[in-house]
Amino acid sequence: MVTGTSFKLTYSTMYNPPEELHQLFDAALVKVKARLGKEHAMIIDGKERFAGEKFEDRSPADTDVLLGVFQKGTDQDAQDAISAARKAFPMWSHMKWQDRVAQVRKAADLMDQRIFEMGVVVALEAGKNRMEALGDVAETADLFRYACDRMEANQGFIVELGRDPLVGFESTNVSVLKPYGVWVVISPFNFPSALTGGPTGAALVTGNTVIMKPATDTPWTARLIAECLRDAGVPDGVFNYVSGPGSTLGQALIESPDVDGITFTGSYDVGMKIYRDFSARKWVHPTILELGGKNPAIVTRHGDLEAAATGIVRSCFGLQGQKCSACSRIFVEEPVYDTLLARLVEMTEKLVIGDPTERAVNLGPVINRSSYRDYQQFSEELQKAGHILTGGKILTEGNFARGYFCTPTLATDLPADHRLWQQEMFVPITTIARVKDLDEALQRANNVDYGLTAGIYGSTEEIEAFFDRIEAGVTYANRPQGVTTGAWPGFQPFGGWKASGSSGKNAGGVHYLQLYMHEQIHTLVRKK
Ligand code: NDP
Repeated sequence: MVTGTSFKLTYSTMYNPPEELHQLFDAALVKVKARLGKEHAMIIDGKERFAGEKFEDRSPADTDVLLGVFQKGTDQDAQDAISAARKAFPMWSHMKWQDRVAQVRKAADLMDQRIFEMGVVVALEAGKNRMEALGDVAETADLFRYACDRMEANQGFIVELGRDPLVGFESTNVSVLKPYGVWVVISPFNFPSALTGGPTGAALVTGNTVIMKPATDTPWTARLIAECLRDAGVPDGVFNYVSGPGSTLGQALIESPDVDGITFTGSYDVGMKIYRDFSARKWVHPTILELGGKNPAIVTRHGDLEAAATGIVRSCFGLQGQKCSACSRIFVEEPVYDTLLARLVEMTEKLVIGDPTERAVNLGPVINRSSYRDYQQFSEELQKAGHILTGGKILTEGNFARGYFCTPTLATDLPADHRLWQQEMFVPITTIARVKDLDEALQRANNVDYGLTAGIYGSTEEIEAFFDRIEAGVTYANRPQGVTTGAWPGFQPFGGWKASGSSGKNAGGVHYLQLYMHEQIHTLVRKK
């Protein structure tokens, strides 16, 4: 439950929050705004670490607002964080797993207690609307707890195996999963809490020690997660928080021979570079990559059009289209195409754009100048190659003048071989095509490198065919809460196929923790 309310928040329930949740968010907003602009240190070996160079964290909704000043970590900081994690590993990995679980659970409880202030920070620095921002924090606490639950359900992953059929001897065999060592977590801007915290919780509970490097656009949220771990009593060096550019600080972490495993969540290009760089070692090290998406929605003639329109608009434009799971392609069967299109346009035009901390606002700004430019270029391209049904414009007047605000955009009539059917745009733009039947829809849906999420609205038989043939890691049918978005740990474990991920096992699911450990078999023979 969200602290101070009787409400269980998930991305499915967030559309009907109780009144007190808004009041608590508003109170936290006042508190956080009173302490904007402060300097925040890194945390290495339990100590605050300052760097010579700093960088500013500014609000994408109003770039005049300085949220905080953060450290531009150096190669030396990366090395010191790795050394601290290495030093702490023997103690942490030999601690009883039940004790690690207790500490990680305590950190989850602190996140719950701090959810409103953390949610405000997410809204301010990532530009998420308040419910999405609170969801990001609530998800993190649930990811921590889910990792703890799996550890318990598997009794620390110690399993007695069969006994060898030896004459005169007793031979017992035990399988033990053990942590790898020092684990690096590099996260993107769009889920600054869940995608920093989720992998960190999994790595910690399984006995690894961690260095977290968040995106430069969202360093504050990760610092607050580090504070929850610190205040929960997780020992010095077991987790370390560094901030600074991926191209230098992140690269130094990747290139260090003292790192044993990595979880990277971010773009395909950076992820593949990390995969290659990380392989330049004496042996293969675990590399968990969670990458981009180009997620399709399919609507057949048998689909519930109202549910479809609601679920599609939510998934296309939640967080301004900047979710890896955002719905960015829509395939609609001919007989319902015109009706659905009209409804999509109508709903999209009702979305409220503005300061994401305000209660009524659905869409905040895109994250930075580079995304803002991308949006304008894609819009121009779509205008030329296809037809923009709604949107395609940036907002620059009045309160929008100092932020990166874009209108939610639906485009159609784009040739099937156009590059924008393939490229992840990561801004509030979705393209729509009519298809003659489900076969064509599935063929087009699968005709991309990515394979993250997908959704359908159709009949029972059509849904069976969809589940059977779609190439994606998370799939939804007939879901008005979001056609491709809104996964929650324990309900919809999250991960991708093909170019969307490397492990084939989803975060927040039953097979995830095992990725953070290697197996050791203990065979003990005694004479009878
Ligand atoms: P980026 O790939 O640009 O950055 C992700 C992280 O990598 C940042 O912390 C970045 O640091 C860091 N980084 C950049 N270069 C290097 C490097 N050479 N070595 C080490 N680290 C580096 O992604 P975005 O932040 O723009 O996030 C959006 C992307 O993330 C989209 O493609 C989206 O689909 C994907 N994503 C995937 C998810 C999934 O679960 N599959 C979930 C959420 C997002 P810095 O910020 O300093 O550049």
